[in-house]
Amino acid sequence: MAAGRAAEAGARVLLLEKMGRVGIKLALTGKGRCNLTNSGELQDFIESYRHNGKFLYNVFSRFFNDDLIAFFKERGLSTVEERGRRIFPASQRSQDVVQVLRDFISSHGVRVLIHTPGRGIVVDGGRAVGVRTDSGIFHGRRLILATGGASYPQTGSSGEGFRMAERLGHTLQPIRPSLVPLEIEEPDVRDLQGLALKKVRVTLRAGGRKAGEEFGEMLFTHFGVSGPIILTLSGDAVDQIGRQKVELSIDFKPALSGEQVEARLIREFHAHQRKQISTILTHLLPHRLVPIFLRRAEISADLKGTGVQSAERKRLGRLLKDWRLTVSRPRPLEEAIVTAGGVSVNEIHPLTMESKKIKGLHFCGEMIDVDGKTGGYNLQAAFSTGWVAGEAAAKES
Ligand SMILES: Cc1cc2nc3c(=O)[nH]c(=O)nc-3n(C[C@H](O)[C@H](O)[C@H](O)COP(=O)(O)OP(=O)(O)OC[C@H]3O[C@@H](n4cnc5c(N)ncnc54)[C@H](O)[C@@H]3O)c2cc1C
Repeated sequence: MAAGRAAEAGARVLLLEKMGRVGIKLALTGKGRCNLTNSGELQDFIESYRHNGKFLYNVFSRFFNDDLIAFFKERGLSTVEERGRRIFPASQRSQDVVQVLRDFISSHGVRVLIHTPGRGIVVDGGRAVGVRTDSGIFHGRRLILATGGASYPQTGSSGEGFRMAERLGHTLQPIRPSLVPLEIEEPDVRDLQGLALKKVRVTLRAGGRKAGEEFGEMLFTHFGVSGPIILTLSGDAVDQIGRQKVELSIDFKPALSGEQVEARLIREFHAHQRKQISTILTHLLPHRLVPIFLRRAEISADLKGTGVQSAERKRLGRLLKDWRLTVSRPRPLEEAIVTAGGVSVNEIHPLTMESKKIKGLHFCGEMIDVDGKTGGYNLQAAFSTGWVAGEAAAKES
């Protein structure tokens, strides 16, 4: 987007791409469907970034979700809106999004050199004047660093841009995973691998205090938990791990109060007095969860409905509303959907994306210390900052 916009605005543009083709990560997004933006209002957007959403006010005033949707529509790619105001290409193919951008750059004469990793930025008199590569230095009046984050390195974004920026004296906010699955300490969770839960409420607790809450779907894996609501909570979990105890509390019955759950258990045990408790609980829980629940509540699986004591029932009721899992660590950065941290927004001019430290150097995309939740916010930030950086680089060169 940055290269295309710069060329459209009149600059002669050379795009250096490390991999064999551009847009590899973009083609993977949204499970191959590319959730390219969200139709939410500006304020919803600003609040959907965990860090520095406000930095994007200026950027979004120049190029926002409606501009992005129009950009693709004008180039023959219409979009559809799905649950959560998520916008996808109507074709449901992320490859079509990549193709529009490829056509955009080629129609404006951007020259692309593939298999050409930038190794460093050449600075002269406080001004970026070129990029060092294995085949020599490419000179230019303006340089846009758009090397992405450090997750999914097989797509090409492996964090080299961060190191280049740091070597030039920029402050990097710590690079860490966000939108990432979480590993769970309790070993019994491994027995649940593949189990998906719908309509549950998960509360993130750090040092015993509530640090976030989401309602929706989650998934158990061989190492712990994943799925939409876990990914959304993960960034805040990552920020707390190592500082204090981080737990997830799962509420399996978010529509019922604690008393209502208790009343429901009383009804169930009364109605099925001769059945085993393990069978009765399948009316309230996925059957794979039942043995773990009974173990945690210290109740024998062959106890009959009639034999359940009030204290046992209360323990079960509490577990249904507040089943605790201890988060040990996030999955590694390589497995994260986005990278949190990056070049500090305090060192980037919000109207041009130009570095405040090195003249002629602009930043865009995941390089910048902005990370959003799922729903199209990360790509919109990348497209918008790219657009603004490209335009400013063309105008000021
Ligand atoms: C599996 C997955 C699914 C996702 N789904 C969504 C989604 O549906 N919606 C959403 O909003 N976000 C999604 N994201 C996040 C989104 O893809 C990123 O935030 C976005 O791609 C960042 O764009 P970028 O241009 O900054 O970086 P990237 O897309 O990572 O592009 C960086 C480019 O720079 C190149 N490069 C790196 N280093 C060098 C170098 N030294 N020299 C030359 N070239 C270099 C790379 O090869 C790459 O082509 C997803 C991410 C993943 C991993």
